[in-house]
Amino acid sequence: MQLAQRLNSVTEPQTIKMAKLSRELKAKGVNIIDLSIGEPDFKTPEHICNAAVKAMSDGFTKYSPVAGFPDLLEAISIKLKRDNNLDYAANEIIVSTGAKQSLANAVLSIVDPGDEVIIPTPYWVTYTSLVSLAGGVSKFIKCDIGNNFKLTPEQLEANITSRTKLFIYSSPCNPTGSVYSKSELAALAEVFKRYPQVAIISDEIYEYINYNGHHESIAQFEELRDRVLIVNGMSKGFAMTGWRLGYLAGPREIVQSCEKLQAQFTSGANSIAQKAAVTALLSDLAPTHKMVEAFRQRRDFVISALKKIPGLRVGDPEGAFYAFPDVTAFFGKSFSGNVIKNADDLSMYLLNEAHVATVCGGAFGDDDCIRISFATNMTNLMQAMERIGNALAKL
Ligand code: PLP
Repeated sequence: MQLAQRLNSVTEPQTIKMAKLSRELKAKGVNIIDLSIGEPDFKTPEHICNAAVKAMSDGFTKYSPVAGFPDLLEAISIKLKRDNNLDYAANEIIVSTGAKQSLANAVLSIVDPGDEVIIPTPYWVTYTSLVSLAGGVSKFIKCDIGNNFKLTPEQLEANITSRTKLFIYSSPCNPTGSVYSKSELAALAEVFKRYPQVAIISDEIYEYINYNGHHESIAQFEELRDRVLIVNGMSKGFAMTGWRLGYLAGPREIVQSCEKLQAQFTSGANSIAQKAAVTALLSDLAPTHKMVEAFRQRRDFVISALKKIPGLRVGDPEGAFYAFPDVTAFFGKSFSGNVIKNADDLSMYLLNEAHVATVCGGAFGDDDCIRISFATNMTNLMQAMERIGNALAKL
């Protein structure tokens, strides 16, 4: 069979490749500690599960409106006002099958073949694949670990051209954990104001997993209001990855075009998950705060342990659940005759020698680093840090 050309631009995410490799080693009886994980290791809070059960018994088991149930759109509108002081009417919001689908809808709605899309590096794997699928050209801007992997206004300005149509970023960021402050966003907003043709996708899926307590959205800058698309969802903050529910808030015409695409791809998102999401968004956020507190303790432990390992250069993540150390000090070193040439080799070395699964930074557009997730318990983390330290000391 002759497959379509467009598939050439889509590769298997390294995150999934690493999960597969560590599953294979586990099946052979190797005691792998998996730090390649991209989801909370907590259960969905019980009151949310109960709401799903009630939804089923109340008969919400049929197709929903393509954009989402009106009560969920209303709940998201309330959430955006409550948490972010942003005003979005229900018809400026669309619910999708995960934030991933919201991103796909948005990119396909905006990007034409040949359009340039600016993506600060390191970035979340899916962004560039979506841009390629749309026929666009990703333009990467490498952000420096010395600036906690954050884009500066000067870098942004220097990379916008007349063909730039879109900018995509996440804060808190996967994979670096960096979080933009209000003043940092204001400085970027000043640049965007000079380029009204550039739309902005602000991926805020890790909003609640924030250790400095101040989530800021670039949508707060009034002059950008008509071209910012907020993407968010239930996966991370409510430990609901498997429920597949995300949403986008933005200008009406974008929401309408997302709806048009979604009507052909999937229709409305899962009806039961939508009803559960209403409960999640409108209830007390105590279970989320408890989970975030556990992540904070793990972050403190993992970052201080990594900083003690000679050769690693470690940033200070303020959100999400990842460390993203620079491992270039180990390039050129060898073990059993194999030279470590890049982060991919180092990640494989840690898998085979320390039996710890990580993800190489190349998956996120940064070949100098590896991603270490702390979405697992402290016992695993303590053991993993010791194993990583011992393995790296052998190089
Ligand atoms: N955006 C980022 C930065 C992510 O890390 C993820 C999931 O890993 C998503 C979006 C997609 O989330 P969802 O599970 O809602 O599709």
